[in-house]
Amino acid sequence: MEKIITRFPPSPTGYLHVGGARTALFNWLYARHMNGKFILRIEDTDVVRSTQNSVDAILNSLEWLGINWDEGPYFQTRRFHIYEDYIQKLINSGHAYYCTCLPEELDIMRKKAAAAGEKPKYDGTCRNKGLARTDNAVVRFKAPLSGITIVNDIIKGKVVFQNNELDDFIIQRSNGTYTYNFVVVVDDISMKINTIIRGDDHLNNTPRQILLYQALESEIPSFAHVPMVLGKDKTRLSKRHGAMSVTAYKDMGYLPDALLNYLVRLGWSYGDQEFFQTDELIEKFTLENIGRSPGIFDQEKLLSINAEHIKRDPPARIAKHLLPFLKEQRCTVEEDSHLESVIRTLNKRSKTLKEMAEGALFYFTETVSYDEKAVKKFLKPSVLKPLKLLLDRLQILETFNEKNLEKVFENLIKDTEIKFGKIAQPVRVALTGKTVSPGIFEIIEVLGKKKVVSRLKKAIELIANKT
Ligand code: GLU
Repeated sequence: MEKIITRFPPSPTGYLHVGGARTALFNWLYARHMNGKFILRIEDTDVVRSTQNSVDAILNSLEWLGINWDEGPYFQTRRFHIYEDYIQKLINSGHAYYCTCLPEELDIMRKKAAAAGEKPKYDGTCRNKGLARTDNAVVRFKAPLSGITIVNDIIKGKVVFQNNELDDFIIQRSNGTYTYNFVVVVDDISMKINTIIRGDDHLNNTPRQILLYQALESEIPSFAHVPMVLGKDKTRLSKRHGAMSVTAYKDMGYLPDALLNYLVRLGWSYGDQEFFQTDELIEKFTLENIGRSPGIFDQEKLLSINAEHIKRDPPARIAKHLLPFLKEQRCTVEEDSHLESVIRTLNKRSKTLKEMAEGALFYFTETVSYDEKAVKKFLKPSVLKPLKLLLDRLQILETFNEKNLEKVFENLIKDTEIKFGKIAQPVRVALTGKTVSPGIFEIIEVLGKKKVVSRLKKAIELIANKT
């Protein structure tokens, strides 16, 4: 079987938004699933709206998501010589022609069509004139005047277009630049793309593109037009529906694998399975399972998938993405294994990495910073004695692990007749400064002897000074 070659061709006129990321993901997953090739192409022919910042944002977002490409990025603005060759091919074979109609004349044509109740359409004035190139000429494609063009879409099925509605569309403007339908076909032909997965907002362009393939005697690729992603109110996704850029989700503390997991489900399904690791997606992704109805973007669902990934993904994988958030809080991480232990104490209670980093702060600070209310409520003279005893016993404890710590607390409760609840909370405040934290044995173990001892001493001192 022919090697599958897919592509992602974003226009760099803004950041990579979640809809675009889903298109990239589908193309990437399909290429990876089929052992094919995935090509990245930057469609920057709109020089006014394209920016280097957008290019950088798109590349960085794809890299962060782990969507890697086998070829590219190609830039359309560096390929004009190729487009020029194809223009000449089409002119020479009689499939395109120069047109010198003036804007005013086109305007009259449009008005005439409107008055007759017809669709505005170029009337073919220059179609058979055989004009030569002049400065103000555009190049038009000579579209068939009758018959039909069929798009055999993997998702939509057979979609039929009447050729007489397709118009002799412009492929090169008088300023020398080229139009989308033309360059996209030239690129897809020359890059040997055989599978095009894109939003169904492009479906109306496809018959024009098919006509160009036919005129250029090239094989027509397979098309899969994916229903668009909508907001909860069923309107097209926009800023009104919340954060739209991939970067925003990165900054809010989402894991790339969680975002991919959420995005793939906006249009693709595998039974009723909701949770996927990326490797598993590569193994299971096929075009047959892309649905026919639009995906509804739901931030709460995305948040819960993120929490699920934080809970279930290997701590070593989470560590890499958590680090920037810790650095932002000025934490220095000395050992990977320590960070992984920190993550294990917080992964069931953090919905985002940002939340996790905030919850992890107390592990890394030199001294504990107290929540005043917690101190007032829990660091009271009545716990001075058991805290001192705990300090003595922990100082001589060799190995800090759950089993040993449980024993220490059991004996402490027996010897002082204090209830576990009455001592656990003061210890928590002494060690973390707060009333909410991971389990008490977990934090003692992960903080380590040095920090535990110094924090208990500090709390004891604080209580002693109060009395
Ligand atoms: N540059 C186009 C876009 O961003 C690509 C469309 C296509 O896949 O052909 O919508």
